[in-house]
Amino acid sequence: MTPKIRIANLRKTFTDPEGGAEVEAIREVMFDIEPGRFVILFGPSGCGKSTLLNIIAGFEAPSAGEVLLEGKPITGPGPERGFVFQEFVMYPWRTVLGNVAIGLDVQKKLDKPARDARARELVKLVGLAGFEDRYTHVLSGGMKQRVAIARALATDPEILLMDEPFGALDAQTRRSLQDDLLRIWQQMSKTIVFVTHSVQEAVLLGDRVISLSPRPSTINGVFDIDLKRPRDTTSRDFAEIERKLMALLAGTGGQRATLVHD
Ligand code: ADP
Ligand code: MG
Repeated sequence: MTPKIRIANLRKTFTDPEGGAEVEAIREVMFDIEPGRFVILFGPSGCGKSTLLNIIAGFEAPSAGEVLLEGKPITGPGPERGFVFQEFVMYPWRTVLGNVAIGLDVQKKLDKPARDARARELVKLVGLAGFEDRYTHVLSGGMKQRVAIARALATDPEILLMDEPFGALDAQTRRSLQDDLLRIWQQMSKTIVFVTHSVQEAVLLGDRVISLSPRPSTINGVFDIDLKRPRDTTSRDFAEIERKLMALLAGTGGQRATLVHD
């Protein structure tokens, strides 16, 4: 089976346009992502997680190596990939419904009634029914991130790319968004690539956690997590995987691994 996404011998070095120092962000990374999986890119701040996700999104080009989407090289962004950023990107002159419909408005595939119906469906899916006509400045951070998820899903991408989407939220709000994201993922069978440096978030959400070393990044561990969902964050098995990830963050575990084409 062709993987949904294949990364092979990927390298990324940023070159200063002014002729300054080069920054080697990714030294060598390779892995496959199978359709429908929830894959976590985990690693310390500054290790190149966003860079890697941006390359999969098509916002950045690799310096070397291959990034394939269903066997074809990624050359730019595309409708089969939705993106949820770290920062809330809201259009304050649009309502919640209008913000959710932005991708639909760009695509212009649906007439007004169908567009509205689709956007309403997504607003409901993310738990914001009743807020369709509100402007986004009245929304809490958690609600804004719900809007961002609904927006990314509105055009029905097969893949959702998420860059620390819950990083700015308080613990309780974060937990409720994590649970809702899992529900949505199970309901809609999307492939999700999710960046986080939170150990607990990685173990709670991921089917597979790909751990990256400090910059320049290589893969220093891969964990297939088969804990039953919903996962009990207080269980011994959960804590055991957390410990292993924490050791990798602290630089006391793992090794340079060139995985992972299964
Ligand atoms: P993470 O998301 O894991 O925190 P990033 O992917 O944002 O890490 O960054 C990895 C490294 O690449 C950092 O050292 C960062 O400063 C550098 N970097 C990221 N984007 C650029 C860029 N456009 N130009 C130069 N350096 C960059
Ligand atoms: Mg980042």
